Amino acid sequence: LVREGITLGKLLDEGVTLVQPALRQNNIKLEQARSQVDLQEVEVDPDQIKQVILNILLNAIDAQGEGGVILLSGVQEDGFVGFAVSDEGPGILPDALPYIYDPFFTTKETGTGLGLSVVHRILDQHGGKITTLNLNERGVRVEILLPKQG
Ligand code: ADP
Ligand code: MG
Repeated sequence: LVREGITLGKLLDEGVTLVQPALRQNNIKLEQARSQVDLQEVEVDPDQIKQVILNILLNAIDAQGEGGVILLSGVQEDGFVGFAVSDEGPGILPDALPYIYDPFFTTKETGTGLGLSVVHRILDQHGGKITTLNLNERGVRVEILLPKQG
């Protein structure tokens, strides 16, 4: 079991680096609202949390299609710290919402349906949590929280 003290900012920077090519290829602008939250330390397996960030951002990019803005925000909430990703895609059908964390559940022609199940497992192992909701106008907001250190 790997646990390392690391700032959320460092994890997010590395996660964003991994998706830069996909953002560029799809002409998507990543807007970031992080500041204070970057300084917060978490006690995690950095590679696993990078996997979480990657999977969430890749889903947002898939949903977004060509152009527009994905927003990555820092989030703080009593004892927890994390991030939220909002896209401008079509959202999730209410019928599908209960199943999105199930292994192999996908609505994509070439999807594996493993991304969110892996995210869910990793967060369980870290005492973290995930919330996925449809935004009012369009798109989805996924919020990830991890226990705050120090
Ligand atoms: P995959 O990406 O391979 O389909 P995931 O486990 O990552 O598998 O996601 C499962 C399903 O959840 C997706 O197929 C999609 O239906 C839904 N989903 C996840 N994120 C989003 C999003 N940002 N916008 C719309 N639907 C989403
Ligand atoms: Mg996925």
